[in-house]
This record gives sequence, structure tokens and C-alpha cells, in this order.
Amino acid sequence: MSQYQLALPDGEHICYQLERRSRRTIGLKIGASGLIVHAPKRISQPQLESALLQKAEWIRKKLDQISANQPSPLQWVDGAELHFLGNPIQLKLSRDAANRKPQFEQGVLHLRLTEIDDAEFVSARVTQWYKKAALPDFVRRLELYANRLGVTLPRLFLSSAQTRWGSCNSKREIRINWRLIQAHPHVINYVICHELAHLKEMNHSSRFWQLVESLYPEYREAERILKQLSPHLHRL
Ligand SMILES: [Zn+2]
Repeated sequence: MSQYQLALPDGEHICYQLERRSRRTIGLKIGASGLIVHAPKRISQPQLESALLQKAEWIRKKLDQISANQPSPLQWVDGAELHFLGNPIQLKLSRDAANRKPQFEQGVLHLRLTEIDDAEFVSARVTQWYKKAALPDFVRRLELYANRLGVTLPRLFLSSAQTRWGSCNSKREIRINWRLIQAHPHVINYVICHELAHLKEMNHSSRFWQLVESLYPEYREAERILKQLSPHLHRL
């Protein structure tokens, strides 16, 4: 793949990666890494660029949408803003002779560590704290909704899956992504109810969604929020 620039009439540029393939049409892919163009081998560069220019407005709009929804990476410094149960919390870092137990009070997560300039070290400690907080919180919600659904309490595990927020298997084990503890309880409750419903319906049939709705009537809104929130939850 090679890098190109498309010059727009207004003087701006759109960068794109070009891959020539044996295909008939021009394919455009817009993602977090920008614009990728798949072009037929026989099409000339001027021909390709004039075709791209016709789509320039659409491309620009899509690229803007993606950059607006792409959160900046977390900075592991004193005062950084994190999220817990949908609320912003502040990370406080102090240097100490030994690594102390994290303290969470009034929206401040205080970490006293031997090494506070090592981003990887700090991030590992914070992650550990989140996981520790996630498990009892998720268990409590699971108990509540398992009761409402009238099923015996399944086993709960935390997951770190990159693409899934929850899963349920035939051994009645439910896995919930620990990163969800950053989200508003509304979203966590929905994911828990979704996985619990799989204990009765191991599919995504209309019967399954009816069950989800009976257990969690606002599930559509929660799912919409979760989709928007996903890139933010993955900052951690
Ligand atoms: Zn599902």
C-alpha cells in the first residue's frame, strides 16, 4: 500500500492509502486509520483522483465523524480524568516509599506508588483497581436480575475481550468485560440482562429480544449508548 494525497479545489488535502487490485470498481474504506482506496489495476492515477474528487464531500464528512468519535488516549499523569459508573473521577498520583493500596474517596482515585512517571506501571495499577471494583458490582446486579428472571445464579467471570461486552456459554458461565464498570449503571444492567436472557434463549431470535425487553424494558436505549461509548471505554 502506498500513501497519496488528494488535492481538493479549496486547497485542502485528503491523505489516503492506495491499494491496486484486480477488481472492477473503486472501493473506499474509512476507519480509524483514515481513508483506504482499493482501485482497479488498469485505472490511471488522474482517472482515480477525479473519481475520488466527486466523492470528496462524503469522504470528508465520514472522516470528520470518525475523528469526532475517537477519544484521545489516556494520559497517565496526576490529575487525569477517568470514569467510574458513568461519573468522571480524578486520578491522583503521589510518590511513596512503597506501593500502597489504592484509595477511592469522593471521586478521587488516589494511588501512592514508588513509580509515578512510568505510564505502564500506573496504568497496570489503575486497571487492577477497576477489575477489583467491577467484580462485586457486577455480581450484585447479576443477583438482582437473575432473581427477577427466575433463574439460579450463574457463575460470573470478568473478561478483557476487545470486541464483546459480555458472553454466556452452555456451562451457564457469564463473562462481562471489566471495562464496563466505567459506564453508567444503565448500560451495565442492560449487558447483564442480555447475558442472563441467553440462559433461557441461546440465540438472538425475536423470542430472545422479547425476554430481554421483559427483563430490561429500556434495552434499546442502553444498547445505543453502549455503541457510542465503546471507543471511550476502550481507552482503558
Ligand atoms: Zn447476545
